[in-house]
Amino acid sequence: MSKAGVPMLTPKELERYDRQIMIGEIGQERQEKLKRSRVLIAGAGGLGSPIATYLAAAGVGMIRVIDHDHVSLSNLNRQVLHWEEDLGSRKVDSARTKLRNLNSEVEVEAIAETITERNVSRLVDGCDGIVDAMDNLPSRYILNRCAIEKRIPFFHGAIHGFEGRAMTVIPGETACLRCMYRGPVPQVKFPVIGVTPAVIGSIQATEVIKYLLGIGRLLTNRLLIYDGLKITFSEFIINKNPSCDHCGSLSTSSSR
Ligand SMILES: [Zn+2]
Repeated sequence: MSKAGVPMLTPKELERYDRQIMIGEIGQERQEKLKRSRVLIAGAGGLGSPIATYLAAAGVGMIRVIDHDHVSLSNLNRQVLHWEEDLGSRKVDSARTKLRNLNSEVEVEAIAETITERNVSRLVDGCDGIVDAMDNLPSRYILNRCAIEKRIPFFHGAIHGFEGRAMTVIPGETACLRCMYRGPVPQVKFPVIGVTPAVIGSIQATEVIKYLLGIGRLLTNRLLIYDGLKITFSEFIINKNPSCDHCGSLSTSSSR
């Protein structure tokens, strides 16, 4: 499975990842696969914080974090990558510093840009997966469409108050975000407590790791709804819409 020229795991890395290499489904070969993987995290906020933290801790080789925003006091109840000392700093700079301090083996690309239809293709270029850690629907649609066009898996997550949802999209094979939702765009500022993105972001990071390693059963064609007040997880079947304006024209032939 190792490609020529790709460095194997160092003794330090073998020690660092010892407990996860022990997992039967992972092992050393798949740990090397993680090291060769490149993941884009769109958003360095509430969802982006746990996603980036756990993907860096797990040893994903390159993490590209995109966020145009600066750290403000009202972010700190949930965006745990950012601390009081980071107030006023660019979120991507704060994120890069924390992730490097956590795992210096991981390459972190920090891009302080707003994701638009014009730059999205460049921003996702070369990535094996796109993680939706955005806080607004228009940006999610831009990412969803680009992911489908480029046939890059898309890991959706969203939060509101004590509730959250997640779904994984494999372009051409499974339902996409647009198949699921075409309704009105909700309000921009929404309530949330930090434990909710902690749960949903961890689920998204789990999905990314499973996809990259080719293990387990992905959260595809299933929308997972989490209710933190009741601690319940519900699943809704989402069917691929043949007339979806994002993915409908894509053949169902597998690209992997
Ligand atoms: Zn679709």
